[in-house]
Amino acid sequence: MAYDPDNIFAKILRGEIPNDTVHEDEHALAFRDIHPVRPVHVLVIPRGAYVDVGDFAVRATADEIAGFWRAVAAAAEKAGVAGGGYRLIANTGANGGQEVPHFHVHIVGGGRVGPMVSPRPDRN
Ligand code: AMP
Repeated sequence: MAYDPDNIFAKILRGEIPNDTVHEDEHALAFRDIHPVRPVHVLVIPRGAYVDVGDFAVRATADEIAGFWRAVAAAAEKAGVAGGGYRLIANTGANGGQEVPHFHVHIVGGGRVGPMVSPRPDRN
């Protein structure tokens, strides 16, 4: 799948759409999800144009990959969930329920997150 430069996270990176920033550095931007599913819900995105985790793993540099994961940890720290724990989610592709085609990781926490997935996907 080719990268779509008009996806909403690309627009956020270009400053065309506002965001509630939690952490930013040269490799990544972390901001609060507009529809939080838990008290803390932060999205972390690389600054580079990657569709999903597979694309990121193949095309990103080692520095970008290391920087991205350090940003995930920094964002969790700044959001106040590092001590108590949290969950990382990376929805990937159609079956994974990925809505925005720019690689991102969700940080969800702020209390017990609950079961890892719903028991029956057909009841979602
Ligand atoms: P995914 O289904 O993994 O692609 O998740 C995309 C996430 O982006 C959803 O949780 C949305 O609520 C979130 N989202 C969409 N637009 C925005 C926005 N403008 N600012 C913050 N979060 C957004």
